[in-house]
Amino acid sequence: MQRSSPYICLLSLTFLVFSCRKKEATVEKDEHLCETLEDTTGRSIEIQNLYDDIVTKDTIKIISEQIRNNFSRRRTLSYDEKAVEDYFNENFSSVLSFDRFKKLLPDANSILKKERWLAVFPVRVGVIIRPEAPNYIDEKRIHHSIEILNRAFVGADIQFKVVQIDTLSSEHTIENLKENGWQNYLDFSDNDLKDTINLYVFDNEAKLCEEDGTSISCGRTGGFSYTLSSFTNNIVLTKFELGDQKVIVHEFGHFFGLHHTFDKQYGETTADNYFCEQTGDKICDTPADPGTAYEVYVNYTRCEMEGFFDEGGKEYHPMINNFMSYYKPCYMKPYRFSDGQYDVIYNAAKSRIRKDFVIDYLLLDEEKAQAIAVN
Ligand SMILES: [Zn+2]
Repeated sequence: MQRSSPYICLLSLTFLVFSCRKKEATVEKDEHLCETLEDTTGRSIEIQNLYDDIVTKDTIKIISEQIRNNFSRRRTLSYDEKAVEDYFNENFSSVLSFDRFKKLLPDANSILKKERWLAVFPVRVGVIIRPEAPNYIDEKRIHHSIEILNRAFVGADIQFKVVQIDTLSSEHTIENLKENGWQNYLDFSDNDLKDTINLYVFDNEAKLCEEDGTSISCGRTGGFSYTLSSFTNNIVLTKFELGDQKVIVHEFGHFFGLHHTFDKQYGETTADNYFCEQTGDKICDTPADPGTAYEVYVNYTRCEMEGFFDEGGKEYHPMINNFMSYYKPCYMKPYRFSDGQYDVIYNAAKSRIRKDFVIDYLLLDEEKAQAIAVN
């Protein structure tokens, strides 16, 4: 398979296949009056008998997960018992009755009330130290970055937990990982721990500017990551970006399936966002974004692009403060994801290549919600 480059933030675009479809529950009958229940983790269990009395604990658990997956999608407010019952009867009535299910279910409340469970993903932080110029970092900066991440991702019912911080010795800087057609990066990715998000923190090149006669050009890579890919399990950042309110969230956004709002690999979106499902970032509640080439039209005080029109005469109104755009910060509006982006992240977290990472689930109660907001 042809390998593509990861997303290089603040430098260039990439071309990676994005796929994160929600897996539906399936219950299929076979001839021997056994039923196979396939849950979202791909496991299958056989229910030897269809009678209520011998429905196993595992079956209850799997059915509960299916219902939770179907109804705990963020902001799906049609989460009433009648809707759950209808869904149940449609999918599981041949296994047991809904009343019986409720009796057998130990945590019925968590299904039938709108409780939110946060999937916890482990993060291993690898701090890259160049032997000739060792640049260590304070662990507090790492934890602060994870807090920023957790505040942004709670909307997708996801949290991150640092499980390991280690120091890796390497001559690489973030810039030279791209050399040799990304081979340096792919070789370095052998350091990845399995089923864990590896966050590598590199140095930049010492010299960020090049002088050519009278002109000076300066550039810096903030970080990069593949978009929902199993090529690597890592996200790369520079030490410079630790504590930044956007870059780490942006890179984790890619890791969980998001494209840039100005992405053009699937075609450019017109200003009216027509064909939004097929073009741009393929998310309809992120408005068409022509990209930072037109940043001169952005009024940062109002956080709006003003006076820039597409060929059809429609005005662009990109979400300037979106985590997946390339615009500068707005004075009054914090960065954010749209609901559609949260849905993509949520589903990516449940995708085949990410679901095995999850180490824990946390019930989001008032207290926890406050703690995340305050951090
Ligand atoms: Zn990016």
